[in-house]
Amino acid sequence: MQRTKIVDLLRRTDFGATVCVKGWVRTRRGSKSVNFIALNDGSTILNVQVVADVEKFDPEMLKLITTGACLAVEGTLVESQGAGQSVEVQATAIEVLGTCGSDYPMQKKGQTFEYMRQHAHMRLRTNTFGAVFRIRHNMAMAIHRYFHEHGFFYFNTPIITASDCEGAGQMFQVTTQNLYDLKHTEDGKIDYSNDFFGKTTSLTVSGQLEGELGATALGAIYTFGPTFRAENSNTPRHLAEFWMIEPEVAFYDINDNMDLAEDFIKYCVRWALDNCQDDLAFLNKMVDKTLLDRLHFVVEHDFVRLTYTEGIKILEEAIAGGRKFEFPVHWGIDLASEHERYLVEEHFKKPVILTDYPKEIKAFYMKLNEDGKTVRAMDVLFPQIGEIIGGSEREESYEKLMARIEELDIPMKDMWWYLDTRRFGTCPHSGFGLGFERLILFVTGMQNIRDVIPFPRTPKSADF
Ligand code: ATP
Ligand code: MN
Repeated sequence: MQRTKIVDLLRRTDFGATVCVKGWVRTRRGSKSVNFIALNDGSTILNVQVVADVEKFDPEMLKLITTGACLAVEGTLVESQGAGQSVEVQATAIEVLGTCGSDYPMQKKGQTFEYMRQHAHMRLRTNTFGAVFRIRHNMAMAIHRYFHEHGFFYFNTPIITASDCEGAGQMFQVTTQNLYDLKHTEDGKIDYSNDFFGKTTSLTVSGQLEGELGATALGAIYTFGPTFRAENSNTPRHLAEFWMIEPEVAFYDINDNMDLAEDFIKYCVRWALDNCQDDLAFLNKMVDKTLLDRLHFVVEHDFVRLTYTEGIKILEEAIAGGRKFEFPVHWGIDLASEHERYLVEEHFKKPVILTDYPKEIKAFYMKLNEDGKTVRAMDVLFPQIGEIIGGSEREESYEKLMARIEELDIPMKDMWWYLDTRRFGTCPHSGFGLGFERLILFVTGMQNIRDVIPFPRTPKSADF
């Protein structure tokens, strides 16, 4: 018999119909005469209640219906008498597809998130992680739809790259060389000429540089792919492998770029509110009681826009007024998370877009302002998260870009192709990078980035 997904079953009203559901047992309770089995198949956070009259079934089979076991149930769809559920299934046949022993790691409720991480292969079966990963899927769909509806082309940039100008020091090398028998050149350096690509290669830290090639040909593109950073930062907001969305648009200046970022994030959050109601209601109840308020707030309010210099002034005034920070504040610093969160959560109580950062703390390709000191960078700062987006208007002048590259002594020998964008029909253009997992953190209210990607990669941790 054709199986019905629980998400579809719960909407049906054709009571009396014979149905088949399959899924995993969440709980089983009951009396001598009747058993109530809560079954979940992952299609929704909601369970369907299966009612089994004990006398109709083999007692040995019923014993196998433990938490975590996998069942196929045939029965009659009936209107539910219980509160909080619309339909239930009066079982006529139950098959135990997979038994589940008492060592099932997700058996006990109320385990810590750290315990869950150690059992990441099984945590997917819990309510919380089911909700998180259904929302993650929905956000991916929202992102593709937003850009498609706005005329952006999905553009795939390489994962293996030979350019190290952006990520010096924090890239993962890619090699097929035998590390026990490395060949060296005469001057003692490792000889890469016989390596797979004939040169040093790494996993990409960003698709932006290739994205600029796409934007200056197709007009508006976005990437959505994995990126890798070997930064040894053990924080709740950093992963070694994360997914990034990077739109890049020809003829956009920094203001267009900010408008895009704000509109895009609001679209994604609205999508979650419209399409993930059950999962959000669960997370709002169990994980973070202010989640729904925060999501509505972001959708309904304009983001505050101000310059880095103004932001520093506000922080200095706060310090003068007695506010303490761990890290010192003065013009020129790279803002720490505590500073970003002060501006967002305490001062403005709104998402903030900070612009025009000192050039020293931003990447070489950002467009220099007329003051010669700041660049047209824009970071979007969010409550609870800090930086969720980093972007800029790009330097389109070949001369100014080269001057910056020389000033910073950036290795550009493999980057001739990037510089060609500025030699052949250069144009103003802008773009940004959104960390997918930081968006998921915001939308789910989860506290740790390790809990919004199925199998996190962090320093000293690459299980599963
Ligand atoms: P941070 O200061 O938080 O480390 P960044 O300045 O290094 O961020 P960018 O290089 O601008 O970040 O990357 C663009 C976006 O990618 C960031 O705004 C953030 O959302 C996300 N991001 C950056 N590094 C990580 C990471 N290690 N794990 C998860 N997301 C990240
Ligand atoms: Mn970083």
